[in-house]
Amino acid sequence: MKPICAYCKKLPAEIEEYIEGAEQLETTPDDYVRREEGTFNPANGHFACTECYIAIGMPSSPTGWVAP
Ligand SMILES: [Zn+2]
Repeated sequence: MKPICAYCKKLPAEIEEYIEGAEQLETTPDDYVRREEGTFNPANGHFACTECYIAIGMPSSPTGWVAP
């Protein structure tokens, strides 16, 4: 699944923190989100970018919260 922020609908390539992270790991912003973004949901490709994660109240779960 192609990663997309479930809230603002931005792609990793449009979000500075993932562009920078991808450069450090020498990969693509999409791949960086799949590998490193804790809110990434592999079932549907959704994640919450930092801005949206804060805006929705920084949800957490003992099993690891992922974007619905
Ligand atoms: Zn977002």
